[in-house]
Amino acid sequence: MSQAHPPFKHPDAGPHDRELLGHVRPPGWRNPRPRDPYHLLVIGAGAAGLAAARGAAALGATVALVERDLLGGDCLNYGCVPSKPLIRTARVYADMRNAANYGACVPSDIRVDFAMAMERMRRIRARIGRTDSAQRLAEAGIDVFFGAARFASGDAVDVDGTRLRFKKALIATGSRSMLPTIPGLSEAGYLTNETVFDLTSLPASLLVIGGGPIGCELAQALARFGSRVVIAHSAPLFLPKEERDAAQMVSDALARDGVEVHLNTTVVDVGVEGGKKYVETINDGNVATIAVDHIMTGIGRVPAVEGLELEAAGVAYDAHRGIRVDDFLATTNRSVYAAGDVCLEHQFVDTANASARIAVRNALLLGRKRMSALTIPWCTYTDPEVAHVGLYVRQARERGIPVKTYTVPMHDIDRAIADGEEDGFVKIHVRDRTDTILGATVVARHAGEMINGISLAMVAGIGLSTVARVIHTYPTQADAIKMAAEAHARSRRSPFARWLSRRWINR
Ligand SMILES: Cc1cc2nc3c(=O)[nH]c(=O)nc-3n(C[C@H](O)[C@H](O)[C@H](O)COP(=O)(O)OP(=O)(O)OC[C@H]3O[C@@H](n4cnc5c(N)ncnc54)[C@H](O)[C@@H]3O)c2cc1C
Repeated sequence: MSQAHPPFKHPDAGPHDRELLGHVRPPGWRNPRPRDPYHLLVIGAGAAGLAAARGAAALGATVALVERDLLGGDCLNYGCVPSKPLIRTARVYADMRNAANYGACVPSDIRVDFAMAMERMRRIRARIGRTDSAQRLAEAGIDVFFGAARFASGDAVDVDGTRLRFKKALIATGSRSMLPTIPGLSEAGYLTNETVFDLTSLPASLLVIGGGPIGCELAQALARFGSRVVIAHSAPLFLPKEERDAAQMVSDALARDGVEVHLNTTVVDVGVEGGKKYVETINDGNVATIAVDHIMTGIGRVPAVEGLELEAAGVAYDAHRGIRVDDFLATTNRSVYAAGDVCLEHQFVDTANASARIAVRNALLLGRKRMSALTIPWCTYTDPEVAHVGLYVRQARERGIPVKTYTVPMHDIDRAIADGEEDGFVKIHVRDRTDTILGATVVARHAGEMINGISLAMVAGIGLSTVARVIHTYPTQADAIKMAAEAHARSRRSPFARWLSRRWINR
């Protein structure tokens, strides 16, 4: 054991956060004495770095894992894990308000206890954090170093004055919230995903800048807790990547939950007076002022490349697109690979995880696994959820692929009617005149669960007609997928086959 790491500053909100830190940044942790050189040195212990370190250690490699903040990265500490318990509690309140539609009766004066919801979130985060604990990683044979890593050369990294040499390295430093350059915003103060989960009381009013997945999920959740939430998004619809009808449904859902939706709206100035933040916006030339208590920004992510001194290692990068990698995830230094948000367009936990596995195989086993071979699904956890896999119609058109689309609205699905969850649709795209599934969008309360069946079919090369032959349990919302598949199977029956069956029946 060598040098002790300086105590990490993290707002400590009580026993659950103390438990979390005990796992992901143990107080008094002493970095191990370095082995020389490591088969694999991993920078960043988020989803990508953890998967890479575990995968490489399981192969018998010597592994160093360097983390400057908390093990588990964004997902565990400031992202997916804290957001989902809050979204769930917010949904309980929404369901309670909607109880009469379910033939149920709850008191009309529902009291929201935000502190209790935050406490539950912290408890859950600490519990999930056990999986990523420094202790467990050490037990798996991984040398965990806390401190910021920067390259000293093409085969060495410095961590707080300690030199770690490597045969292969993986950069998995993730991304951080993009900070808007709006006059007055820094002075007024604002929340990002790194601070919003530290709130101890519900903001009476909140402006969310940016209508991507993070902005939409949190805007809806906080509105359901009872905040007055305004969301300003510079484009005509939320979720810029998604198909327009899906994005429109999210916009409608947010509005139904009481979120003030300002689309095509740019925030141009922020001022503070009497403790309130006054936000100037422009919509189609129209200037308006919104007064709120808090502002949260969610305008996008930027790759975390600062401070790595990539030039010293000959690793090319771009401040906006991140580390430059080829399809095998190798950087311009053939001994250095990258994975996760720091180099990928698709910034999701499972993509980070899958890319790390590819990078480890390619780096340590001379593998030739390609990133482009992956089928990547994703989901925005608004209510209804929006999930997608594969190509969008516009992408298929750009590639000159003829598309046929089968759409089934959720209001035609028995289980969705029974559940009172009729908003949404299943839309499956196939290559025209073939059985090949190109992609799908699902908008439904549990779209994130439903999309996995379609991903499975795509990865396994199962055609949509085969999906039609799979008996789905009744009643489930996934029946919508089967109905879309059946429509496709019917359309594939040739006129001759139809003529023949008619003749046979009428013989
Ligand atoms: C609010 C929110 C909700 C989200 N919800 C979802 C969701 O529901 N589903 C989903 O799939 N995705 C979700 N995401 C995205 C997901 O969190 C990221 O895609 C994922 O965490 C990326 O993993 P990563 O390993 O690439 O990076 P990260 O998790 O960011 O990890 C990178 C790590 O590297 C460390 N690091 C950086 N620089 C250095 C350095 N110089 N030295 C040492 N360490 C360094 C950082 O401290 C960090 O711990 C969400 C994101 C946010 C912000």
